[in-house]
Amino acid sequence: MTRPDPIARLATAQAQRASEGLLRRLRSAEDSAAGMITLGGRQLVNFASNDYLGLAHDPRVVEALRDGATRYGVGAGAAHLLGGHHAAHEELEHELARWTGRERALLFSTGYMANLGVVSALLRNGDRCVQDKLNHASLIDAARLAGCELRRYRHAHVDGASRQLDVPDNVALLLATDGVFSMDGDIAPLVQLAEVANASDATLMVDDAHGIGVLGASGAGSLEHAGVSANNAPILMATLGKALGNFGAFVAGSTELIDGLVQFARSHVYTTALPPALAVATHIAVNIARDDHERRAKLHHNITVFRAAAQARGLNLMPSTTPIQPLLVGSSEAATLLSQQLEQAGYFVPAIRPPTVPEGAARLRITLSAAHGEEQIDGLINALALELGGSLA
Ligand SMILES: *Cc1c(COP(=O)(O)O)cnc(C)c1O
Repeated sequence: MTRPDPIARLATAQAQRASEGLLRRLRSAEDSAAGMITLGGRQLVNFASNDYLGLAHDPRVVEALRDGATRYGVGAGAAHLLGGHHAAHEELEHELARWTGRERALLFSTGYMANLGVVSALLRNGDRCVQDKLNHASLIDAARLAGCELRRYRHAHVDGASRQLDVPDNVALLLATDGVFSMDGDIAPLVQLAEVANASDATLMVDDAHGIGVLGASGAGSLEHAGVSANNAPILMATLGKALGNFGAFVAGSTELIDGLVQFARSHVYTTALPPALAVATHIAVNIARDDHERRAKLHHNITVFRAAAQARGLNLMPSTTPIQPLLVGSSEAATLLSQQLEQAGYFVPAIRPPTVPEGAARLRITLSAAHGEEQIDGLINALALELGGSLA
């Protein structure tokens, strides 16, 4: 018997991926600025960032980080329960709870960890977690870690969700969905999902990584946008590393939920607390995201400008009203080539290929930001139209 060598097996899988032309490449940016990225010595307009409001480079946020580091040092030094929890964390949690209209909020180091922590604290063997097929990988992994039964329904298909929620009433049910889908940019049918969750006594959890700061009158996200109350969607997870321009994540909900997570969410208990300086910076970012309506309006204006110009050129856009504007290409080779051509023209738009998206659905995932100027958006559309020239109707 020859024992499988797990590292050699990994190398085989990598070779396989390479032979399919699907190898992912790590590149390091030499520099970045609002809406810009420097790669290979060239400054490109960045249409790949999730920094939708341009807050990562906002001078007030940068200065808050510096001030926070001066006051608290760089690292938290310990887990939250062992001295790592600082006043800055506490204040940020209060602000996030207020913003999202919930009793309490709890910080996590990343969105991935927040999803793992929440679902595995809530569900166990014998329970069922019902999820949209296009949910983020971290929600899928969370259900696997919890050891519950995972059922996935066809993307945005409320009837499918409803059918999968039909189980005996001794089974705990969690219905989990992205608020905004990260590779398609569309918004989940939250009103209807809340209805079917209610009808089955299931608990609705929304991962609003791409909705927070972007949607809703005060930027509180897709639930505010849809008018779904905290009662009807008791668990909200959102990240601090996208529209808020920082790093980390939080879960917001009832006191009962948050107190339970402090005890039982292992990815919160057994990890070093977020650097308190980041909590200081994020706090400022939250205030700007909530109060600077013009910035949010600029983002939505950019989305409108982009879609109008793309449609005028016959580009194959997907139905999205959010900053995520995928351009469906199809084959991985064509998507990769188009991405390279755009880079030559000065625009950074990476190709998204299987297994991140379904086979035959490779795309350019174009993301827009309030930091973009209209001339940059026009430039991108012109470059796209030029490259796609022949293949356009
Ligand atoms: C980015 C993302 C996450 C993960 O958040 P991180 O803080 O980057 O770990 C979770 N869910 C969705 C939908 C995301 O887009």
